[in-house]
Amino acid sequence: MKYVIIGNSAASVGAVEGIRKVDSQGTITVISEEPYQAYSRPLISYYLAGKVREEDMYYRDPDFYEANRVKLLPGKKVSRIDSLQKSVKLEEGQDIEYDRLLLAAGSRPFLPPVKGIEKQNYHFFNSLNDVKEIQKKVEANQAAQPLIVGAGLVGMKAAEALSLLGLPVTVVELGSHILGSILSEVPARIVQRKMEEHGIRFILGKSVKEIAWGGDLQGVVMSDGQGVLTDLIIVAAGVRSRLELVEELPVSRNRGVKVNHYMQTDLENIYAAGDVAEGWDSLMEENRVIPIWPGAYRQGHTAGMNMAGLKIKDTGGFALNSIAFFGFSIITAGVFEAREGNEEIMTREEPENFLQLIFRDNRLLGFIKLGEVDRAGIFTWLIKEGIDCTPFKERLLNPDFCLLDLPAALRKERMRGGETVESLGCA
Ligand SMILES: Cc1cc2nc3c(=O)[nH]c(=O)nc-3n(C[C@H](O)[C@H](O)[C@H](O)COP(=O)(O)OP(=O)(O)OC[C@H]3O[C@@H](n4cnc5c(N)ncnc54)[C@H](O)[C@@H]3O)c2cc1C
Repeated sequence: MKYVIIGNSAASVGAVEGIRKVDSQGTITVISEEPYQAYSRPLISYYLAGKVREEDMYYRDPDFYEANRVKLLPGKKVSRIDSLQKSVKLEEGQDIEYDRLLLAAGSRPFLPPVKGIEKQNYHFFNSLNDVKEIQKKVEANQAAQPLIVGAGLVGMKAAEALSLLGLPVTVVELGSHILGSILSEVPARIVQRKMEEHGIRFILGKSVKEIAWGGDLQGVVMSDGQGVLTDLIIVAAGVRSRLELVEELPVSRNRGVKVNHYMQTDLENIYAAGDVAEGWDSLMEENRVIPIWPGAYRQGHTAGMNMAGLKIKDTGGFALNSIAFFGFSIITAGVFEAREGNEEIMTREEPENFLQLIFRDNRLLGFIKLGEVDRAGIFTWLIKEGIDCTPFKERLLNPDFCLLDLPAALRKERMRGGETVESLGCA
């Protein structure tokens, strides 16, 4: 069996490990546009801030490819998939045949329609190469006034890294609050204040309308006419699944490539996983792109096992983010805004220990937890298992809430999963 994988990141590594669980004989070729062995993309901001070295970012040991008998083609780009010939074409002309193909091409940053931007020297914040370029500018003192377009997770990680390097960072965001895809307004303001304490300046509710060249400094004009000078523009305005390779294929797609529970596209020999695919959201009970690292690995692993002949359904997942800015922790999971009448929000508004819980019919649908995050595991578990929280719902908001607050039967079930009373702070 000939396996070919396009991309070499979380989904790809998951697929290699999934294939090798089932098939030790088939050949695996991994084609990667990036010139590196798989590295942890979430760590690139820490690399820029000087907190991790490149070798600490590798997702697997350097002998991973050899040990799994993978032929890695680093720095090579696939330009076309020929589903009739069952082959992929590299940009430089070579054809590589497959029996089973996995599209693990991830996503690419979105460039918003800003007048003059295409002529300017802007940067994305998506790859190790992106941060290496930014690092060069910082070291050459060509990035004294960085401006970040977009206050999502990636923009905030870029802002933290540049601030840790001692630079005065400005962030422009069209929305009314930062981290709009994972936080509601009140907790977003708390995080914003924490970041402002570290010198980060926010311009909210405005978009960048135009960028004009003015020597070393670029003038950025906002939607209300306000101008900001900068010598480093980082565009962090969201990502889009990389669908270019399936555009000419008879494969359904929406925001991402549509897959069934086996991570298979409409073409039975072609699978898709990770940021490029619309996998199963077990909470929303629909297929959609959930661009998170562990989900990409899980989907890739399921795809790999199925490519090698098993018939295993992906368990699905839901949005789950765990991050910290300047040591202040944020964990969010599931849904964070009530949209239907039977949904209810309960909030503990302590800035250093904020908690927001969203319920539907007394079952936890999502939470936002800031500051102290020790007990977040139990909330994630309540969501995942769809547990009726009626008997202990009010107690969930208590800062001392712990395993002992659960009914005995639930407590037993939870502890079967390896949790101890001590690990939940009840001792
Ligand atoms: C700065 C940053 C911080 C993040 N932080 C977090 C976090 O804290 N937690 C979290 O869960 N997630 C985080 N994410 C998201 C997470 O990194 C992604 O969800 C994950 O990387 C998706 O993995 P993937 O394997 O689907 O694709 P990707 O990691 O996007 O990799 C796809 C690879 O395929 C290659 N490729 C694409 N097309 C071709 C082609 N035609 N030929 C050859 N190669 C190709 C690309 O170059 C790329 O190397 C972060 C992302 C960024 C950018």
